[in-house]
Amino acid sequence: MMLAAVRAGAAILKNGGRALDAVIATVSVLENHPLFNAGYGSVLNSAGQVEMDASVMEVNPGAPPRAGGVAALSRIRNPIKLARAVMEHSPHLLLVGAGAERFARSAGISLCRPEMMISPRARERRWIGGAKAKRGYGTVGAVAVDAHGSMAAATSTGGMSGKLPGRVEDSAIIGAGTFAGPLGAASATGHGEAIILAGLCREAVDSLVKLSAPQAARNAIAGISQTAGAEAGIILVDRRGRIGYAHNAAMEVATFDPAHGLCHLRSPATGPARQP
Ligand code: ASP
Repeated sequence: MMLAAVRAGAAILKNGGRALDAVIATVSVLENHPLFNAGYGSVLNSAGQVEMDASVMEVNPGAPPRAGGVAALSRIRNPIKLARAVMEHSPHLLLVGAGAERFARSAGISLCRPEMMISPRARERRWIGGAKAKRGYGTVGAVAVDAHGSMAAATSTGGMSGKLPGRVEDSAIIGAGTFAGPLGAASATGHGEAIILAGLCREAVDSLVKLSAPQAARNAIAGISQTAGAEAGIILVDRRGRIGYAHNAAMEVATFDPAHGLCHLRSPATGPARQP
């Protein structure tokens, strides 16, 4: 599934398409699969509801960066598409809850019943072993650079299972769970509160001024481990398309190598940038 998602983005890039379209296509595939904690498959909050967050950011050469985020959604199949609509069709950067869902209608994105977003797996996980849900990660994200020099990052999540209703995840916050700037693009997963406090993705992208992409990823995760003792993971790409990723918790990474036209699944245990 990871490879299918990366291939969806790769097909766009191979045909000269935009990084923004590639990351939205990739994240949408993952949102649609119940294996991931995003879109359909999102974990349940303490009230037994799905509440999803997502954000996207792109930077085009010579133009100011653009971004959009959404939070606390229960009735949107693909939150990442709504985040894009916020970026492209609203004067705002972050819309939440009922207001975001109202905006979706005006942007031509249909709403579904909240129960439609609850997968059998999410329901089972919540109730196995009693009402106390386990903390679970599984946020999805994508980063890309295209042949025109544009870069984009997108992230989508159902958050932490058992979270309080109304919690906003780092995945909705530009600079925290998602960031794209002139030096690169990044997307994060892990403990949302720590990621927001660290401004993790922005820090990592800014550090590309002196670090390689793998070093920037490792540095970001080492920093959040040391300062907050937090579990996190990050993927990033610099403007030349060099990738970096690091994690101190379970994370899977798949990549597209345009030079050879190949997609690869990187094993979580053997990824070159993995943190101990
Ligand atoms: N970052 C998400 C959150 O805090 C969880 C995750 O990455 O899986 O809710």
